[in-house]
Amino acid sequence: MANVDELGRIDAVAGDGDHGIGMEPGIVAAAETAVNMLERQAGAATLLQRAADAWADRAGGTSGAIGG
Ligand SMILES: [Mg+2]
Repeated sequence: MANVDELGRIDAVAGDGDHGIGMEPGIVAAAETAVNMLERQAGAATLLQRAADAWADRAGGTSGAIGG
């Protein structure tokens, strides 16, 4: 993901700098799931729900838990 380092840099101002690392797995999982759902011709609601679930399952850190 292109912005992992930048998210970490911003997080490091007031936190521990791991925000980018925590978000990357969730974003990758959401994108892969969305593509998979599109290929299966899922409707928009199903695609978004499954992608959100994938993100919540894989995103790390406090932001991952709160977002989930
Ligand atoms: Mg952190």
